[in-house]
Amino acid sequence: MSYYAEPIARLLEELERLPGIGPKSAQRVAFHILKGDDETAQRLSDAIVEVKRQIHFCSRCFNFSAEDLCEYCADSTRDSSAICVVEEPRDVVAIERTGEFRGLYHVLQGAMSPIDGIGPDQLRVRELVLRLEDGSVSELVIATNPNVEGETTALYLARLIKPLGVKVTRIASGLPVGGDLEYADEVTLGRALEARREM
Ligand SMILES: [Zn+2]
Repeated sequence: MSYYAEPIARLLEELERLPGIGPKSAQRVAFHILKGDDETAQRLSDAIVEVKRQIHFCSRCFNFSAEDLCEYCADSTRDSSAICVVEEPRDVVAIERTGEFRGLYHVLQGAMSPIDGIGPDQLRVRELVLRLEDGSVSELVIATNPNVEGETTALYLARLIKPLGVKVTRIASGLPVGGDLEYADEVTLGRALEARREM
């Protein structure tokens, strides 16, 4: 049996599905919402619905965007001769925070993991190769996570793209092996970018 009235139990169930939210956190959030006024709850609810309605993937780099092109692809002051390849949109934010990269991005939407059946065809690899075809990109900076999947993906991309005459670099470690890019502090990630090496 549940200790809660059905609507509360339903909210708790949904909250507990969120990453990093266990039963205790879910309870804290639910009671916070219940104690607050109706407008606050409505704003939260609207923000969730609106973000799903308005945000889709940038048609060029597959970052999150409210427009056809994301803010980076649409910015003509960015250096379009360099593309930084990352796994997820959140990694774009991590790289931007370092202030060390002024080029464009390409979001793979994951990393290769043969065990899970994720190969190049499940990622935005074909779209990346298409972006390199006109010869305007001179450097590809691979900033996949420094774990097994990220390294596998980096090696695959280097082998695929170097023959196209594009310089392929990999961000240096200094990043904890097995870690996630999004948890690295700006200084560590900034240094790793500066010390990137050719693959
Ligand atoms: Zn974009």
